[in-house]
Amino acid sequence: MKNSKFNNQARRNPAYRDIGGLYDIYLKSERNRLANLNRANAYLKAVIVFPNYYGVAMSNLGFLRAYELINRSGFMSCDRAFMQDDLSKGVISIETRRRLKDYDFIFFSLSYENDFANILSILSAEKIPFLSKDRNGSFPLIMAGGVIAFLNPEPVAPLFDLMFIGEAEAIFPDFFEKIKSQNKPDKYEIINSSAGIKGIYVPAAYDFIFDSKNPYILKEIKNADGFPKRAARRWTDENLSFSSSVITTEFSELSNINMIEIERGCKRGCRFCSAGFIYLPLRESKIDAVNDAVSATCENEKAGFVGFGTMDGKNIGKIMRFSLDSGRNFSLSSVRFDCLDENNLDMIKESGIKTVTLGIETGSERLKKMLNKVLSNENIITSVGDIVRRGITGIKLYFIFGLPYEEIGDLDDTVMLVKGILKEFISASKPNKRIGKLTASFSPFVPKAWTPLQWENFEDLKILKKKASYITDCLRGIPNLVVNINSLNAAFTEAFFARGSRLSTDILIHSFLNKTSIKKAAEDKGYRMDGFIRKIGTGELLPWDIIDQGVTKKYLLEEYKRALNLKTTPQCFEGCKRCGVCA
Ligand code: SF4
Repeated sequence: MKNSKFNNQARRNPAYRDIGGLYDIYLKSERNRLANLNRANAYLKAVIVFPNYYGVAMSNLGFLRAYELINRSGFMSCDRAFMQDDLSKGVISIETRRRLKDYDFIFFSLSYENDFANILSILSAEKIPFLSKDRNGSFPLIMAGGVIAFLNPEPVAPLFDLMFIGEAEAIFPDFFEKIKSQNKPDKYEIINSSAGIKGIYVPAAYDFIFDSKNPYILKEIKNADGFPKRAARRWTDENLSFSSSVITTEFSELSNINMIEIERGCKRGCRFCSAGFIYLPLRESKIDAVNDAVSATCENEKAGFVGFGTMDGKNIGKIMRFSLDSGRNFSLSSVRFDCLDENNLDMIKESGIKTVTLGIETGSERLKKMLNKVLSNENIITSVGDIVRRGITGIKLYFIFGLPYEEIGDLDDTVMLVKGILKEFISASKPNKRIGKLTASFSPFVPKAWTPLQWENFEDLKILKKKASYITDCLRGIPNLVVNINSLNAAFTEAFFARGSRLSTDILIHSFLNKTSIKKAAEDKGYRMDGFIRKIGTGELLPWDIIDQGVTKKYLLEEYKRALNLKTTPQCFEGCKRCGVCA
């Protein structure tokens, strides 16, 4: 794990000495909107841990939201802790410098599969046994939430006493009541009594039985008495206001941006996107709540509008206008071409946005239909021209390669599209008297749980390498174009965990203890990696079937068949009940 650039930035500060000094610098930089919260009645100590560095954690709205909600509980005070370079003296919180093992509750916030090894580093530094079953009552209650906890928790499930399946705003009130109802909260009592709370998963209450002849096939999931067969996802209704950053800092990836969630969920149904399915249904923040959060954005901050399809919301035009009229510049987490009308583009320009990020995925019309993301190449090229003519000179394009059934001709289509965009980019730049930067980033396709493409395999690494070379060869040395190929090995590890099971926990721990790669650890344990990243039979029981996501497996399977037949599916609509989420 490379050190974060934000650590390096802080390290140049003369006040930096060690982790304590580094945290002093960070704290000094923070604008903490919870600083004046009265915690006088807080009698339990909690810490929320992000298993990556401070700069990454502080740009994660889910982490900040959970930190806020725990602190607002009234009876718990919550500190923050992160991955540290130096773990020799244990892991401390940034606020009180207390060691993690000395808290009553440890909440992990999980956002990336590739952070799993950091969880072990952190537990190991605190001399906390990895597995829940190996920890007695003297250890804190250790829990996990965040998107990975309800996408496929299985590779790390045995590490945790409890996991939160769904959205914190919906689950925490009942969970906190349960803790409050106990005079002297007891870890085991909390675990056992949580069985009845929708949205809580107790991993130790489930046995996963694998085929004795083929260990990659899951045969049965057995639940202990009193625990539900599946852990049901819980989500908020539209009446709850969504989150905004309670802390901003210059030392984060989103430096001094007050992230404001303007919607949750996405109506588009892109078949590769897990977030698009596990946050259904689409819910929009109330415009007044968003405007209040914009008004709370300070002078040296920007309002950062966050959502899966940020430009999809019916109020986005009004929100951007309010932000500009109240003197706050804004940024957008994602932009859809089909939402870029003249008015929206003018406001984006007026806000001083210099770079726009666009997820295109592929230039192949055939694969676009499979992905259910159909934007014609002509429209994409025209839209880039419109953006650049407004004086927005930085364009970042995101593509996926290694897609199911992808052929060289599909990569050629993508290469042609990049070249077509570049031509338009240069021509539209002429009136600006300077050519900006066009960046095309390519990431390997990772089949994710809870998507219609979950049954597909992760492409063979040798083929992926050839495809990556093909793309770079085709686009090499072209002026004004920067091409990035994201790490194939990182994608491979992500795919291994994204579709992993409790067998993966064993491999993860072995890899950590023996300082070896996941591949070598799997081999040491007698497994083949292709068993984990293979194409899955549609009739198989899946490790993530332990979760009742709301979206039915039947619907995902229908969508998978439509993908294979290159049939597109319309987005969510009023009265629709097809996927199982809307009652
Ligand atoms: S039931 Fe229909 S409208 Fe509701 S989330 Fe599913 S696809 Fe969207």
